[in-house]
Amino acid sequence: MRIGAKDKKKLGLYLHIPFCRSKCAYCDFFSFVPSNEELIQRYVDVLVLHMESYRTGTYDYTVDTVFIGGGTPTLLSTEQLMQINRAIYKNFDVDNRVEYTIEANPATIDFESLKKLRRAGVNRLSIGLQSGDNRELLALSRLHNRAAFEQSFRDARRAGISNINVDIMFGIPFQTKDSFMKTLRYVTWLSPEHISVYGLKIEEGTPFAAKRDTLPLPDEDAEYDMYMTAGEFLASRGYEHYEISNFAKRGMRCRHNMKYWNCEEYLGLGASAHSYFNNSRFSFKRDIDAYMNGLEIKNSRIKLTDENVEISPHERVGEYVMLRMRLSDGVDCREFYRKFGLDFDRLYGSKLQQYINPGLVQYVNGVYSFTAKGMFVSNYILSEILDFSQGNTFMG
Ligand code: SF4
Repeated sequence: MRIGAKDKKKLGLYLHIPFCRSKCAYCDFFSFVPSNEELIQRYVDVLVLHMESYRTGTYDYTVDTVFIGGGTPTLLSTEQLMQINRAIYKNFDVDNRVEYTIEANPATIDFESLKKLRRAGVNRLSIGLQSGDNRELLALSRLHNRAAFEQSFRDARRAGISNINVDIMFGIPFQTKDSFMKTLRYVTWLSPEHISVYGLKIEEGTPFAAKRDTLPLPDEDAEYDMYMTAGEFLASRGYEHYEISNFAKRGMRCRHNMKYWNCEEYLGLGASAHSYFNNSRFSFKRDIDAYMNGLEIKNSRIKLTDENVEISPHERVGEYVMLRMRLSDGVDCREFYRKFGLDFDRLYGSKLQQYINPGLVQYVNGVYSFTAKGMFVSNYILSEILDFSQGNTFMG
């Protein structure tokens, strides 16, 4: 029986490109500097094979968001990106109003390649600026300076990309509130549709972790001040603070990332990519050789996944609370009841109440959500209300 377009389920497609031109000192994403060009081409060929293997399994889905992330996807040649693009359209039913994002680093894109990407369907670009201060960029060991970023931004606009995200960070070496404000003013002057503001975390195993004690980092109070100032300043420039780290102009939330926070289905292909698909969460090997061999060698016994778990109804509830509370939309008790047949107030609301007086949580018209202040400490609060230790996330 043929499935009509309107009966199809929606799916987000994520493709991971694990290559970078050099490794930033703070980064623990699964990415590395490729030893040679052949490795990149081989990976692209394998990613195409991987998409082909999901062709029939996704027959009753329409892909309405595509996100090519990394790593640095724009390290691939335009021809390699086109090869991936052809495979996307060949193997999946792509909605004609798809949100199609590529992550890019300044210094790896130019006007000609952006024009080709735009023609091929890419309609959103996510550019990692991190800071508008060249000294801070150097401290992060970023390869670009502010001028290179601005060139990329303007090239993207000229190429017709009308939806751009800019990533910036706070809590980075040498940063002051003043320099952070300058970055914010600079970015909003360019007027991207979306801005992501991340706090630097020192991750184990990175060069930053090895010299943690000597890094000239702002202290926690300064970080809090920067985060709160970002929220106020960006609101005054017309950006809605819709998720802990994300701000968007009206109607310009990232539709792909909204799927993660709304617990909707997405399929992530590529080494280390994560999926929530067919009621399971799984991730492909965080080891590029195992990943490529597993797909290239027919009938290979190499396990392709690191993790593959079916989500129980109990876990779904906990995940929903954890992810939805990241959004300024929060959890609507009525919607929660419709979805799960459970009383949110009884299960979680009573615990959240204690955070209302200190101004960390608000309860308005049957909806619990974090205030801006609460978003800064949301991980702590969520770990207090969700019981992860019992293998389920209901409160005892
Ligand atoms: S460019 Fe991005 S993914 Fe690559 S090393 Fe730097 S932070 Fe990590």
